[in-house]
Amino acid sequence: SLTAGIVGLPNVGKSTLFNAITQAGAESANYPFCTIDPNVGIVEVPDSRLDTLTDLVKPKKTVPTAFEFTDIAGIVKGASKGEGLGNQFLSHIRQVDAICHVVRCFQDDNITHVSGGVDPIGDIETINLELILADLESVNKRIERVQKMVRQKDKEAMAEHEVLVKLQEALENETPARALEFTDDQAKIVKGLHLLTSKPILYVANVGEDEIADPSGNENVQAVREFAANEGAQVIVVCAKIESEIAELEGEEKEEFLDDLGIEESGLDQLIKATYNLLGLATYFTAGEQEVRAWTFKEGMTAPQAAGVIHSDFERGFIRAETVAYDDLVNAGKMSVAKEQGNVRLEGKEYLVKDGDVIHFRFNV
Ligand code: GDP
Repeated sequence: SLTAGIVGLPNVGKSTLFNAITQAGAESANYPFCTIDPNVGIVEVPDSRLDTLTDLVKPKKTVPTAFEFTDIAGIVKGASKGEGLGNQFLSHIRQVDAICHVVRCFQDDNITHVSGGVDPIGDIETINLELILADLESVNKRIERVQKMVRQKDKEAMAEHEVLVKLQEALENETPARALEFTDDQAKIVKGLHLLTSKPILYVANVGEDEIADPSGNENVQAVREFAANEGAQVIVVCAKIESEIAELEGEEKEEFLDDLGIEESGLDQLIKATYNLLGLATYFTAGEQEVRAWTFKEGMTAPQAAGVIHSDFERGFIRAETVAYDDLVNAGKMSVAKEQGNVRLEGKEYLVKDGDVIHFRFNV
C-alpha cells in the first residue's frame, strides 16, 4: 500500500505531529494491509459521505478507510554525501510515495533551531538541496551508462539521454525534477529513474498555539505559501502541539474543542485528506445492511482492480459492478429509488472506478 513520509529538519515538530497521527490513528488489527512498524502511523480518512451513507442505510457497523504515514527521522545535512545516517535518511525517502515536509513557523525561544533562527525557506532549501544532489548523482551515473549506446545511435538510449540531460541541467540549477514538464513517453522514462525530487510533495507549516485560528499574520507561513505556489505544491497549516491534544478527542468533545479554538477542521484532518489526494488515492463505498464501508483505490483503477482491494477473490471472479454515484444515491434517498431513476449502472471489466462510487460487486466464487 502507498505511504507518505514525514520529513523535516530537527526540532520543527515532526515527532509531535507524528504522535498526533498515531494517537488519532487506527489499530493495525482493523487494517490487515497496513504495516506493523513503530515508524508507521495508520490514519483513518475523515469523510462526511460515510456518515451520510450510514444515516441512509442504517447498517450494523460503519468502517472508514485508512492509509499510512511513515516517520522519516534522521540526519539531513550532508545526507547526499552518503555518510551513515544521512544515507539511511535518503533510502527511507526513496521508499515512500509522497513527501510531507514539515517546516517550523512557530517562535519559541526555549526550543533551539538547528540553524539559529526560524527560517522556513532556508529549512526547505536545506532538505531539498540534499534530495537534489542525490538525484543529480543518480542522473549522472545513468548518463554514463547510456552514453555508449547513444554513440551507437540506439534510439531508446538517445531518447533517455535527452531526458537525462534536461534533468541534469535542472538539478544543477537546484530545480527539482517535479518542476519540469515532459511528454508522456518522457514521463515514463523519468518514472523509471525513481528520483527523490519527482515524488509529489506538500508543505506542513507548524505554527504556534496562538496563531492556529488565524495564521495570516505569520510572515513565515506567507513565505512558505509563496514558495509552495511556485512549485504548484499545497501548504497545510497545523499547530503540532494542539493537534496532539485534539487527537485524543472524538465526536462532540472534539467539535467543542475546535469551536473554542475558532477552527472548523483540525490541521491533522486537513493534512490527512490532502496527503490522500497527493498519493493519488480515492474512495469508493460499499453499502449493505451489515456494513457501510469506505475503500481506498488508486485513481485509474478498473472495476476488477478496485474489487481486488476488498479481496483477491473479488478480482479473480469479477462479473459486474453495480454502481451508483454518491450524489445520485443521496438525492434518491434510497437504492431502490436510484434504480427507478436509472442511476444504478451495471459496469464491466473496463470501467474506471470514480471517487464516491457506491458499488455492489457481483462475482463468481
Ligand atoms: P522534531 O525534532 O522535528 O521531531 O521536533 P519535535 O516534535 O520533537 O519538537 C521539538 C520541540 O518543539 C518539542 O519541545 C515540541 O514540544 C516543540 N513543538 C512542536 N510543535 C510545537 C508547536 O506547535 N508550538 C510550540 N510552541 N512548540 C512546539
